[in-house]
Amino acid sequence: MFDKILIANRGEIAARVITTARAMGLRTVAVHSDADADAVHVRLADEAVRIGPAPVGESYLRTEAILEAARVTGAGAIHPGYGFLSENPEFVEAVEAAGLVFMGPPASAIRAMGLKDAAKKRMEEAGVPVVPGYHGEGQDAAMLAEEAGRIGYPVLIKARAGGGGKGMRLVERAEDFADALEGAQAEGRASFGDAAVLVEKFITSPRHVEIQVFADAHGNVVHLFERDCSLQRRHQKVIEEAPAPGMPEHVRAAMGAAAVEAARAIGYVGAGTIEFIADGSKGLREDGFWFMEMNTRLQVEHPVTEAITGLDLVEWQIRVARGETLPLSQDELTINGHAVEARLYAEDADRGFLPATGRLERLRFPEAARFARGALRVDAGVVEGDAITPHYDPMIAKVIAHGATREEALSRLHAALEATQVGGTVTNLAFLAALLRHEGFVAGDLDTGLIGRDLDALTAKPPMPDHVPVLAALAAAGLDHPPAGDGPWDALRGFRNWGASEVHVVLEHEGEALDVALRRDGPGHWHRAGTGIGVSRDTGGLVVTVAGRRFRAEAARHGNRVTVWDAGRAFGFAIPDPLAAADAAGAGGDAIAAPMPGLVKRMRAEAGQKVEKGQPLAILEAMKMEHTLTAPRDGVVAEVLAQEGAQISDGDLLLTLEPEDE
Ligand code: ADP
Ligand code: ADP
Ligand code: MG
Repeated sequence: MFDKILIANRGEIAARVITTARAMGLRTVAVHSDADADAVHVRLADEAVRIGPAPVGESYLRTEAILEAARVTGAGAIHPGYGFLSENPEFVEAVEAAGLVFMGPPASAIRAMGLKDAAKKRMEEAGVPVVPGYHGEGQDAAMLAEEAGRIGYPVLIKARAGGGGKGMRLVERAEDFADALEGAQAEGRASFGDAAVLVEKFITSPRHVEIQVFADAHGNVVHLFERDCSLQRRHQKVIEEAPAPGMPEHVRAAMGAAAVEAARAIGYVGAGTIEFIADGSKGLREDGFWFMEMNTRLQVEHPVTEAITGLDLVEWQIRVARGETLPLSQDELTINGHAVEARLYAEDADRGFLPATGRLERLRFPEAARFARGALRVDAGVVEGDAITPHYDPMIAKVIAHGATREEALSRLHAALEATQVGGTVTNLAFLAALLRHEGFVAGDLDTGLIGRDLDALTAKPPMPDHVPVLAALAAAGLDHPPAGDGPWDALRGFRNWGASEVHVVLEHEGEALDVALRRDGPGHWHRAGTGIGVSRDTGGLVVTVAGRRFRAEAARHGNRVTVWDAGRAFGFAIPDPLAAADAAGAGGDAIAAPMPGLVKRMRAEAGQKVEKGQPLAILEAMKMEHTLTAPRDGVVAEVLAQEGAQISDGDLLLTLEPEDE
């Protein structure tokens, strides 16, 4: 049996697996790319092995390099985490051929669930309800259109090899079917090398309810209840919870039994998730849920299940991999309270949720358990000072709250997000906080369309409070800390800043210049001239006083940037540099720059080509999405500066247009 395991993954999930493995007395081996040489998972592990450069194709997806790392370190088992090679049956076979234990299901079970059409057929045979639709071999367009008519609109076309919400098209009317089919096929071919599709009835008022299953190698299978993951944006989960709001006990039992049946039918071993789509229009019902797909691995949102069951799913994975029987039987499993998880991402809600990058100049969470159960739990694969790079998923952390009731869990999570401070990149924190206050969601009235319907309200930005620029000015001027140290410069700085009676600060926020005059009221006490807004510091941080009301907020300067954190919102300010501004002016409006870091997937323009306003010129791929860049005006391409396949950074010039004739 093994006493050392290698984790073939990175980020929070690698760190999470290592934490439990160490607690169980196992030795751990991390693998890492060059970009992750100092990452959290590397520092947590007993040993670490470099497996290649930053791109995943040259590191985390290289079976050979991972097996070699296991060989040199003497690891006896491999935990795949999620993503990367976790659902790749060839990887499982290679691991086993090398004489190692794969901490997941057999390759045959992964294959059985790998393609959505074959999986549905298999489930139908096993008596598991599947979404009504067409999942046959035939792929003739006219035949598929006929099937869609028979199923009845609206229908969903899905690439059978799809994942991560890719290759899916909702079709409301017969006349739109042909175009949507082409779109789904093209995306399936481009992303998964497989154009085949299935057609499904689109369930109205859909709720995503999934069941956690666990099986050992001795034929025991149990379920660990459900998770509701209906809060999705573009078919990707944003907030997950357990148990599902409004779940009657008999429906839970029916869904659990169906999930256990599904796992048995394919000889499953280990942790897995059966995803069901449920019709929520008349409440959750025994005859109102259908199998969608199975994820044959540990799921991102597994901590909510750990919270309500009091179990450690990675511990169970390790026990099962050692050949032990499941620690508990179905009758011994119970639900305790309610848990909610929010996925904190580096992304820009104002720019269509574009993935963002940057150095995490600040990353502070309220006090919480790390990678382990607790009233508040934070699983983060990064720490303050680390960078979010374009190479990997832009997730910063998962924040999980557990409470006696749903209401308690929601307010605990909301408070935790309000107290979380991230600086150096934009995040979805405010969006998550808004979701947790959404009236329908709070009432437990949710479906997968909720975010899409209310996106404007959820991303609305209330005006910046008047005290925020005052805090920004204080931090910009370095007045937010009492004079530190006793060197000559510290004394001088202290004398100057703390002694001056008025300080002028120029700042920029969202392109607008701000001029803030701070007046000193006493040691460490300032107010903005002409207003009643005062700021001071005590041992707990900055204290704002406005019209007799006192409250806390935080501000910090990093280089020529300042961030203010106020009631769950972050405000970024720039301290303008007059020389840089003159430089930037030269770029003009004739350049098309990358709005985010990523990969140039297609370059559709060449020098000398005439283009029209709105014409697609290049396709960028960043994290999980494709983004089309279009011509900002009619004109002629002067120069193409980035080639297909090139990795580019935020702000890199991709093309230039010839200057317009006067
Ligand atoms: P993926 O492999 O990309 O996760 P899924 O089949 O799990 O694909 O579908 C992703 C999401 O799309 C689901 O979580 C659900 O919100 C929605 N969805 C899938 N099938 C249906 C359906 N038949 N009706 C309504 N919504 C659906
Ligand atoms: P610029 O003129 O450079 O666009 P902004 O203040 O508008 O200046 O913000 C520029 C960039 O700063 C944003 O695109 C984002 O990447 C980053 N940024 C925005 N908000 C914050 C924040 N709260 N903390 C740190 N950086 C931020
Ligand atoms: Mg899915």
